[in-house]
Amino acid sequence: MRALRLTAWGEPPTQTEVEQPVPHGAEVLVRVEAAGLCHSDLHVIDAAPGALPYRLPFTLGHEVAGRALALGPDADGVAVGDRVVLYGPWGCGACDRCAAGRDNYCDRRDTLDWHGAGLGRDGGMAECVLVPSARHLVPIGDLPADQAAPLSDAGLTSYHAVAGLRHALEEGTTTVVIGVGGLGHLAVQILRATTPSRVLAVDVREEALALADRSGADFGTLMQADTAVVLRKRSGGTGADAVLDFVGTTQTLELAAGVLRPGGEVAVVGSGGGRLTVSKPGVLPPGFRLSLPFWGTRSELAEVVALAQSGAIHVETEQFPLSAAPEAIGRLRRGRVRGRAVLVP
Ligand code: NAD
Ligand code: ZN
Ligand code: ZN
Repeated sequence: MRALRLTAWGEPPTQTEVEQPVPHGAEVLVRVEAAGLCHSDLHVIDAAPGALPYRLPFTLGHEVAGRALALGPDADGVAVGDRVVLYGPWGCGACDRCAAGRDNYCDRRDTLDWHGAGLGRDGGMAECVLVPSARHLVPIGDLPADQAAPLSDAGLTSYHAVAGLRHALEEGTTTVVIGVGGLGHLAVQILRATTPSRVLAVDVREEALALADRSGADFGTLMQADTAVVLRKRSGGTGADAVLDFVGTTQTLELAAGVLRPGGEVAVVGSGGGRLTVSKPGVLPPGFRLSLPFWGTRSELAEVVALAQSGAIHVETEQFPLSAAPEAIGRLRRGRVRGRAVLVP
């Protein structure tokens, strides 16, 4: 079968023919219908040797939807032909976090040389993907594959980040979303669907602000020197109750801290490598809270799938055949993707 494999750090992935896996034990072989291309794939491709705890080579693709094609003799809870989305964080399976469906916070994460599908283990940018157990699958019914695949990360991560803030997002509150790409445009929709908070969006691209508008944001503005002032004014003068930063550079972290209201919370999702200095006394508002949400839980994936099935959220996708992966990667690098790029094998 064809697969898009990372064979050397810092080099573009290569399209190769690999043996189609055969499921053993509790494994499930899934025929891939769509695999989303995440900005994290660029971080992985560009990583310096030794920076990530993954062994090469492996097939990329951590946002995957498809159909169960073959089952190992001990596979349980799925039937051949079932349409599914992959729950991508594959923890150790033995710790209490994994037992509770919170593989994203597996206690043994640092001792594993993989963090899940397409992140050290063979993922879904291929004709088929081997899943260790049906507990990593969530049914999608007849949801189109290009809609379902991005839910497993862009949707799930955004949903998990919003869930962490929801307690603070009552009527009359303001949430700022920085970076309205694959994750950010779903975060705007999830905020809209699950909280009464006013949503203000920030991006460096006009096209992304148009997407924020279609996604239900109340206001969008370009990232500029006075953006904190503009956002503060739009919040009614108080500042934001919460900020979701899907970029994570020093510039965006400083904007997040600068626009936050006392007692507010910043959730940093983007892996931009920026820094924010914590000091007391200092410039951070009193009561400042910060979180670093990572991916999401298995039950949250089922919830975000249900939201999509109800029509409350819709993923904007640009579809590419798997053979056009280099073009899709190039477009994502240049900030030319609207919503999510999805590869179809
Ligand atoms: P994306 O490229 O689709 O979207 C990023 C958006 O941010 C784009 O619209 C871009 O124009 C905008 N942007 C870039 N620089 C900006 C700036 N300085 N100010 C404002 N906007 C800016 O990326 P994505 O796939 O949505 O991923 C977003 C980030 O989240 C990436 O860093 C990715 O690695 C990370 N990520 C984290 C998790 C997690 O679990 N924490 C999961 C998935 C992705
Ligand atoms: Zn991702
Ligand atoms: Zn674990």
